[in-house]
Amino acid sequence: VALPQNTAEVARIVRLANQENIPLVPRGAGTGLTGGAVAAHGGIVLSMERMNQILELDQANRLAVVQPGLINGDLNRQAAKYGLFYPPDPASVDFSTLGGNIAENAGGMRAVKYGVTKNFVMGLEVVLATGQIIHTGSKCVKDVVGFSLSELFVGSEGSLGIITQATLRLLPLPPKQGTLMALFPSMQKAAQILPAMARAHITPSILEFMDHQCLKALDAKEGTSLASRAAALLLIEVDGQKEKVGADLSLLADLCRQNEALKTDQAKNAPDRERLWSKRRSLHASLHLIKSRWEEEDISVPVAQLPEMLKSLDQVASEHNLVMANFGHFGDGNIHISFAGKDHDLNQSQTLAIRREIYQAAVNLEGRIAAEHGIGLDKTDEISWNLDHSTIEFMTRLKEFLDPVQILNPGKVLPGRERK
Ligand SMILES: Cc1cc2nc3c(=O)[nH]c(=O)nc-3n(C[C@H](O)[C@H](O)[C@H](O)COP(=O)(O)OP(=O)(O)OC[C@H]3O[C@@H](n4cnc5c(N)ncnc54)[C@H](O)[C@@H]3O)c2cc1C
Repeated sequence: VALPQNTAEVARIVRLANQENIPLVPRGAGTGLTGGAVAAHGGIVLSMERMNQILELDQANRLAVVQPGLINGDLNRQAAKYGLFYPPDPASVDFSTLGGNIAENAGGMRAVKYGVTKNFVMGLEVVLATGQIIHTGSKCVKDVVGFSLSELFVGSEGSLGIITQATLRLLPLPPKQGTLMALFPSMQKAAQILPAMARAHITPSILEFMDHQCLKALDAKEGTSLASRAAALLLIEVDGQKEKVGADLSLLADLCRQNEALKTDQAKNAPDRERLWSKRRSLHASLHLIKSRWEEEDISVPVAQLPEMLKSLDQVASEHNLVMANFGHFGDGNIHISFAGKDHDLNQSQTLAIRREIYQAAVNLEGRIAAEHGIGLDKTDEISWNLDHSTIEFMTRLKEFLDPVQILNPGKVLPGRERK
């Protein structure tokens, strides 16, 4: 494990690895969910944890220049002192790094309104496989000088270059946030909120859902009886000017009631908001009270296809006799699926078959087999389900051009990548 402290040290390590044909695996906090930071071929793990400084926090230009090992939440805590925030908020904000977020193009709950990591990367410093250091983008909002290269490295999962510095766009903190929880008798009823909100011209900053199995898990953790009363839960947040937030929240509560919500609960103050959000945050731990081991998936579909996708998931669960819990980002069509055998442990081939049925259902609805957790080691064989042959070939040539000896994170993202 190498722990460089600056870009020059990264470049020296990369040059050495390239000369000696040693695999090099960049690592942020190791919270990635598809094995991207796993040194599957051995070699050097390049930990970015000591490169964790904010180099500039520029209030006037609303941007920050950061090192890749900085924890996302630490940037937000500092930015808040200047009335600013960095919107991409994976649930791992308090322990994942910005370098890892950029390499995974991480999403999060606020993506429905603000977008994902790629929408906030203005520029990058990248060490290429040869040890050469390049700079993409700039601090300018408008910049058409040369090719737009930043996005090549955003979401490249450490396979095209090492991100050693990033210029990130910040936004003014909204003056007010309002949070609403609503319980529905069925997922279909909950889903009707989506077109209703669009018709009412409300863009929530967060719109999360949990299905019936998730409610059972919450009950197990909190001693509540949500699952006996409801089949779906929505957590909705709006932000902006005080008056608008108040108006949007009451309209949202009305829309929920019109769509047969069984109960709506509006946060009255900060602790109340925390009480509602704790349900979402504790979900992972709650699910493990029901089953000690879950297989986890992350897919997305176009937003309007979400109810159809949930129906397909119900079918997969009943055909394979599974316990399945679905939750995630209702507002942007991203479902996190946890499944386990109801009364049997799943073996590897059963798990793979089920995963593939889930991918197929998503692809049938023009969805994607990976929404925000990357391809990593997990999904290289299925990448062709979303990408056609010539696109994969183009990506392969690009990888070969940028990393001819194939030292950078070998075996990740692209299928059939044998090391030379
Ligand atoms: C409880 C939990 C909740 C999560 N919630 C979300 C969520 O809501 N949304 C979401 O998108 N993800 C989520 N994740 C997944 C994960 O946190 C993200 O993928 C995160 O971006 C990974 O950051 P990391 O620092 O841990 O990176 P790592 O796991 O260390 O690395 C991830 C990938 O990035 C590469 N990499 C890391 N640093 C660099 C660098 N400097 N240069 C080049 N490549 C690099 C690695 O090689 C690897 O391929 C969650 C994970 C957990 C455990």
